[in-house]
Amino acid sequence: MTTLKQFYGNWHYPTSIRAGIGRINELPSACQELSFKAPLLVTDPGLAALPMVKQVVSHLVGQGIHCQVFSAIKANPCEQNITDGVTAFLHGEHDGVIAFGGGSALDAGKAIALMVGQTRPLWDFEDIGDNFHRVNTDKMAKVIAIPTTSGTGAEVGRASVITDEQAHIKRIIFHPDMLPNIVILDAQLSVSLPKKLTAATGMDALSHALEAYCVPSFHPMAAGIALEAIRLIKEYLPRATANGHDIEARAQVMAAATMGATAFQRGLGAMHALAHPLGALYDSHHGLLNAILMPYVLKANEKVIAEKITRLSRYLSLERISFDGFFQWVLALRKQLAIPHSLQEIAIDACRANEIGMMAFNDPSAGGNPIAFSAQQYSDIFKKAVHGEC
Ligand SMILES: [Zn+2]
Repeated sequence: MTTLKQFYGNWHYPTSIRAGIGRINELPSACQELSFKAPLLVTDPGLAALPMVKQVVSHLVGQGIHCQVFSAIKANPCEQNITDGVTAFLHGEHDGVIAFGGGSALDAGKAIALMVGQTRPLWDFEDIGDNFHRVNTDKMAKVIAIPTTSGTGAEVGRASVITDEQAHIKRIIFHPDMLPNIVILDAQLSVSLPKKLTAATGMDALSHALEAYCVPSFHPMAAGIALEAIRLIKEYLPRATANGHDIEARAQVMAAATMGATAFQRGLGAMHALAHPLGALYDSHHGLLNAILMPYVLKANEKVIAEKITRLSRYLSLERISFDGFFQWVLALRKQLAIPHSLQEIAIDACRANEIGMMAFNDPSAGGNPIAFSAQQYSDIFKKAVHGEC
């Protein structure tokens, strides 16, 4: 028999993680551990209006922790959001950041915590070469990350994706110390996530694990984590999507999302290389883009990943142990989760295909793809995804 206690754990890899139902109640003690007396809670405007956030804040205040909320962030956070957050942090004399919410809130919170101690502009810390050496780490704020969705895994990531609205691209801001100091994984916080978002964020988690699994570099630890994350998603994402109150499924999918992001320290690939420019140009949901792109990218990579994917299909106990067996499972899963098959179904057409091909080629995620696609090849994959040809 399963009991809620089974989803309870204290993990110290890749950071300090408190997993379990109801563990949001341990937030005051997590604050004390990091000596937060007046943290800034960064969340999105939707969550800020919900009782969930109000309860968390009043719980902290009741324990003598002077927490204030900053929620002026967009669905795809931009530079101005970070600047405003830094102003709020300094103005309120805060001493730590609680990043609470989906990927946007977590990314914004982490970037604000980085920027409160810097004199250089945000883009100076873009993940290019050794830019991260420019960071003054002494002045960075510490972060407690609390995801309310199960997808990006930003709670265990060492980077934030921030949109450059002038250049219309998403930039990755990176420093190893951006890894949050404490993570609270409480699946109870995700039960009210609507079906569509459960599906799209869960598919993002799958794309992280799958792309990380396919990266050719030597990193067997990441490969192992990715494998088990994919199995958890296979077993539990359909259940979590069908019934949001299935707490076992929610807990397993939340763990899988954290694992997916842990694995992608190894790198990502062409799904993300394409999803980043599409998100920046069309403001579409990141997880949904990866979910739609998944089979087209798998096909494009087929000849070099077939053996690995066959091994994966064996681990997943699929009906057919082969690349095609896995490919058909992905198609069936998307269908079951009501993910559209083509980009044109979410109003993305092929008229900017050349530009998107070039942007994908230049995206940092492209470096992890098993085949070094040219801009033209990216453009061709994108066109197939627009028209639903795979
Ligand atoms: Zn992603």
